[in-house]
Amino acid sequence: MDLQFSAEQLEFQQEVRDWIARELPRPFADEVRDPAHDADSLVEVRRGWQRKLNDAGYLGMRWATEWGGRGATEVEEAILHAELNRADAPIVPNFLGISLLGPALIHHGSEEQRRRFIPKMLSADEIWCQGFSEPSSGSDLASLRTRAEPDGDDFRITGQKVWTTFGPWADWIFVLARTDPDDRHGGISFFLVPIDQEGVEMRPLKQITGESEFGEVFFDGALARREHLVGQLGEGWRIAMTVLGYERGASTLANPADYERQLGGLVSALKERGELEHAAVREKLGKLVVDNEVMRANGLRTLANIAAGIAPGPESSIEKIFWSEYHQRMTDAAVELLGPQGMLEARSPNARTEVDWAYQYLWSRAGTIYSGSSEIQRNIIAKRVLRMPTAR
Ligand SMILES: Cc1cc2nc3c(=O)[nH]c(=O)nc-3n(C[C@H](O)[C@H](O)[C@H](O)COP(=O)(O)OP(=O)(O)OC[C@H]3O[C@@H](n4cnc5c(N)ncnc54)[C@H](O)[C@@H]3O)c2cc1C
Repeated sequence: MDLQFSAEQLEFQQEVRDWIARELPRPFADEVRDPAHDADSLVEVRRGWQRKLNDAGYLGMRWATEWGGRGATEVEEAILHAELNRADAPIVPNFLGISLLGPALIHHGSEEQRRRFIPKMLSADEIWCQGFSEPSSGSDLASLRTRAEPDGDDFRITGQKVWTTFGPWADWIFVLARTDPDDRHGGISFFLVPIDQEGVEMRPLKQITGESEFGEVFFDGALARREHLVGQLGEGWRIAMTVLGYERGASTLANPADYERQLGGLVSALKERGELEHAAVREKLGKLVVDNEVMRANGLRTLANIAAGIAPGPESSIEKIFWSEYHQRMTDAAVELLGPQGMLEARSPNARTEVDWAYQYLWSRAGTIYSGSSEIQRNIIAKRVLRMPTAR
């Protein structure tokens, strides 16, 4: 196992750092703090940033050049994501399209679908959202009930999706819908559905952080064209499960880079208040720093395995639990150590902190739910890593 970057990888890291230093006007936290912005204009900031990344060839980097990629390795993609997080660059509005739908189209879509959808997805001319979860089907996704019924050559979709990230700004949604009620997994198909049509209603949902980046989507006989079925009828589950696994490597270094930046903000706020000298404070911070380094080392180990051709297995559930629970521990520590100052919105004139801790504290609650909740990850570890007996 080699935990060091090669000379070429270090060169790529420097290239990315230089590019970000030139191209990123200011950290995203500063955009959010800017009173001139509202939710819509922040999405435009994200769109503009996505276009820059696309023009520079930093989106879909592992894809073939034909589809806008550069045939990069997973290690290079992980380096890119870490550098973007280190600089607090905006998350691009099409991150779900690029990480999930792009690979689905490249591996399972038709040539026409690739030509029609990939360029506009990369250029952010069309924003995509993911329609998998339903009110009664989250962890147990295969129980989903939204159905697609044949209508001539096409399909009509009826049902409800929920927790649809960036749904309020999306033009298209990729939907898992039931095409056979009697086949749990084999009765699910994968459709591309335009949102701007009669029969689709997108309602924003207000989150604990005060934003409405989520939506709930109601389909009432919405049209899905036959040419927008990805793969064959009944292949939706297999397609969804394979693409959900593609991005495991890319995020391994991104979280430690993000947390290091946030932790740096906490250290400077405490230093300014003259509180770094307290042993109890130093002990708390020291543990957070060490745990983040453990996370980074584990990420490098995962990448070293990937580079050696060993795909991440069920043990990646350990990583998911670790980063999501770590973020909660870190934000708990920040609001405790900063006291009332940690509860002020960063845009408030008295906040004097680089990080919006109240926001991060609330947002970190979501990490143990999305991409598989902590309980589900623990089930996976018990069954597939530890091979523990399961209850019937
Ligand atoms: C920030 C965020 C963004 C999201 N974005 C999207 C999106 O863009 N598109 C999309 O389709 N979905 C999205 N989701 C939804 C996400 O995938 C689901 O929230 C997740 O799968 C959990 O499902 P659920 O919310 O229905 O909870 P449930 O599955 O109802 O779970 C409720 C509780 O029961 C526990 N539980 C469930 N089953 C078991 C079990 N077998 N054993 C032990 N405990 C169990 C869970 O851990 C949880 O604590 C998003 C969620 C969040 C928080």
